[in-house]
Amino acid sequence: MLLERQHFLVAGLSRSGIASAEYLRAHGAKVSVYDDVDDENVRRATQQLVALGCESVSKEELREKSEACDILLLSPGIPIDHPLPVAFKRAGKRVMGETELAALNLRAPCIAVTGTNGKTTTVTLIEGIFKEAGKHAVACGNVGKPMTSCLEELGSDGIAVAEISSFQLETLVSLKPHVAVVLNITEDHLNRHYTFENYIYLKSRLLKNSTESEYAVLNYDDPTVRGFAEKTKANVVWFSLSERVGAYCADGWFCFRGEKICPEEALPVDGDHNRMNALAAICCAKLFGLSNEVIERGFKKFRGVKHRLQFIGELNGVRFIDDSKATNVDSAVKAIESVKGESVLLLGGKDKGYSYEPLFDALKSSGVVHAVIYGENAFRILSAALKRGFTAVSLCRPFDMAVRIAYLTAGKGQNVLLSPASASFDAFKSYEERGEKFRMLFTQLSEEYRAPEVSPVPEETTAVALIPREEDAAE
Ligand code: ADP
Repeated sequence: MLLERQHFLVAGLSRSGIASAEYLRAHGAKVSVYDDVDDENVRRATQQLVALGCESVSKEELREKSEACDILLLSPGIPIDHPLPVAFKRAGKRVMGETELAALNLRAPCIAVTGTNGKTTTVTLIEGIFKEAGKHAVACGNVGKPMTSCLEELGSDGIAVAEISSFQLETLVSLKPHVAVVLNITEDHLNRHYTFENYIYLKSRLLKNSTESEYAVLNYDDPTVRGFAEKTKANVVWFSLSERVGAYCADGWFCFRGEKICPEEALPVDGDHNRMNALAAICCAKLFGLSNEVIERGFKKFRGVKHRLQFIGELNGVRFIDDSKATNVDSAVKAIESVKGESVLLLGGKDKGYSYEPLFDALKSSGVVHAVIYGENAFRILSAALKRGFTAVSLCRPFDMAVRIAYLTAGKGQNVLLSPASASFDAFKSYEERGEKFRMLFTQLSEEYRAPEVSPVPEETTAVALIPREEDAAE
């Protein structure tokens, strides 16, 4: 794509918008930038981009200036049916996202990972294994590092390990990953994509350019993902915990096509969901010819990712666990299934349009003894709980009070588990901020209750810290 001849309007100035504008300017395009939020971050970003030669567009100028632009570069936070992209499309002009811009200019092979849950964990695992093998692998995309900002570093010798969200897939047409991974699909983001069918369709777009030369690594146990095999031309490689196909577990070992790869205990994170993420990572490693020793070393060095079932500390025998990234029902169900012992569960936040009833079906046969419900969607969650006959609930707002009540409700030996099944945006900038607040409240409660056996876990020893995700990213 000849960027010098094009005039772009970059709409949405968070991380990926800034990276796109920088990339476009560095490659000679004319760039106008716009954001309808007027806060300190946006003002700082605008200043920085104007210094690079971008033109800043105000709300009042938007209509007129848009007419002069050839292409709209849309932030993943702005839906594809927003009036701005609709106006560009009506005028016969192109609308693309930052990932599409990267895909058009990517020379390195790409392993692309999508799915409702487990993307960041899997991308981090894959990056670790490939680095262990001495490869120049870079985790990028929705993981917090825009792909455009990695293109130079990747060159043609690196390997892009890209996390791709459904928000990004709305504007992505050109990516042709060497290996496309689809981890699972359950209801999420229905407030943005309207129907589950549309959400499934968007996820399937990751495979749409694949030919016989590419690979699709698919979850055999997920009926929706399994169905993708019929629609793709790519070579399908399965992973499963129920059948011995592709990558699977048998007799305490991770296996691939009949070969033992490494003992399951090499993976230091718990839960069947993490074993599935590990199996997907094994498929990628084996397709690139990496050795079993390297995979095992990569697993052993993995420390989990922050805000995903992260142990925070213990207060008077009550263990605090931060799973703030559980922003939908399925991820909270997986947390409940993996956490050992009895728990008081903290639930609530911003609603995304799906039903909470399956969560309470799962709770009935779990170690959850009580749910403390808070947040904007508290009454929808409460109503689902009562409909499914789960009555051990307290309704409590705001968040800090809910955490306190959860602690006071939990008995010695039980957990306080923050796994909210909801986005954070009703009260926080991001799930990271919600997780940090939870950690802070743990420290505050510890001081207040002066327990002799308080043992906060130092942050750096527990999990990989990510670059905070841009607030418009899929949550
Ligand atoms: P994503 O990047 O897709 O949001 P993460 O790896 O950040 O996924 O994990 C998000 C949440 O989902 C966490 O609460 C985590 O414990 C849970 N999770 C991780 N892997 C899976 C999986 N394969 N299936 C279901 N839930 C998962």
